[in-house]
Amino acid sequence: MFDKSITAYEEAKKVIPGGVDSPVRAFKSVGGTPPFIDRGEGAYLVDVDGNKYLDFVQSWGPLIFGHCDKDIEEAVIKTVKKGLSFGAPTVLETELASEIVEMYDNIDKVRFVNSGTEAVMSAIRLARGVTGKNGILKFEGCYHGHSDSLLVQAGSGMATFGTPSSPGVPADLTKHTLLCEYNNIDELKKCFEASDDIACIIIEPIAGNMGFVPADEEFLAQCRKLCDENGALLIFDEVMSGFRASLTGAHGVVNTKSDIITFGKVIGAGMPVGAFAASSEIMAHLSPDGAVYQAGTLSGNPVAMAAGLVSLRKIKAKKDLYENLNQKVTKLLAGFKKAAEDNNIAFQVDSRGSMFGFFFCEKPPRNFKEVGTCNFDRFAKFHQEMLKRGFYFACSQYEAAFMCEAISDEDIDNCIKAAQEVMAKL
Ligand code: PMP
Repeated sequence: MFDKSITAYEEAKKVIPGGVDSPVRAFKSVGGTPPFIDRGEGAYLVDVDGNKYLDFVQSWGPLIFGHCDKDIEEAVIKTVKKGLSFGAPTVLETELASEIVEMYDNIDKVRFVNSGTEAVMSAIRLARGVTGKNGILKFEGCYHGHSDSLLVQAGSGMATFGTPSSPGVPADLTKHTLLCEYNNIDELKKCFEASDDIACIIIEPIAGNMGFVPADEEFLAQCRKLCDENGALLIFDEVMSGFRASLTGAHGVVNTKSDIITFGKVIGAGMPVGAFAASSEIMAHLSPDGAVYQAGTLSGNPVAMAAGLVSLRKIKAKKDLYENLNQKVTKLLAGFKKAAEDNNIAFQVDSRGSMFGFFFCEKPPRNFKEVGTCNFDRFAKFHQEMLKRGFYFACSQYEAAFMCEAISDEDIDNCIKAAQEVMAKL
């Protein structure tokens, strides 16, 4: 049933490290062979063996309408026919930037890049350039891409400067990165007491990279206050939550506003895109207007812009899109929760808009350490059994899940039925 994927994986491992181009795809945390994907069909993935899966990963977030959306496909094909890349300005970039800017009252300008990693890296350079300071404050469990200074882990205590979390990152490059616990106001305050050189706080206001863990309102308010009092900028990393948690991402569901927003995923509808955005005043520091250098050969790629543009216009045109997606999420999670309860399994669920998560633990985790206390063996078993039944969830409890428009009520009913069967076996 997985023969072709098994062979494909073996072949891939001969020429690609670990057989994958991004580590999580190797299924290390849940075991087994990752299905090699042949194609997407709306709500479904089809692997090279012909197995079909209801997809709750959606390329890790970008595909809010599901696979092969006709309007996006059409726009992409039309644009491809005019040329793949020019390295020169196109009207499409202005159109997509306008669609984004129009929705927020705290940003005026957007610069496009090619990935979330690049968006965050550039946003941080901008924050440092604007403030003239060096420090970055980030939170344990938040992921902001794989650039050197963000690959940090806690040092000897929390609220300390981080140490590299990967070989290949010199300690000199992380010595400006402060790390503290998510949702911990005391530690946050201690960081500002420990350093007067903090250029920015970067945070996932709704974290999806330690599983789904939203920040508390009061915690975000404190981030805002401490930035204002200390001449630092607040960066909301909305690469994942942007156009997912609501029409205006996390900004639409929390009371705090950031100075810089980073985007990715949904704004490219599955094409490689990232972006960072801020007020005209902040963006004036960016090259070619200002001195903070940032560039990209393929940035603002026309095919990617065309895909993003159609996607965002469709999103805006569907007034009740997020409500509908959230209703489906709520139904699914209620079904999962009941299945867990019926089998005396400790289980937590939470969601915002089309982004959701679940944990096998006694109470909702509020930070990375608490996520670490969840039952990972149980998660792995759940994942394997759901996959066998044709339901594709992120292969780690440290990841969030995504609902797309193409998933039907019937799909959800089937998924709940499968979860009932699986929970009874855990
Ligand atoms: N920030 C956040 C919040 C993310 O979720 C991710 C990717 N999952 C990134 C940044 C990095 O984006 P990319 O993988 O496109 O470089």
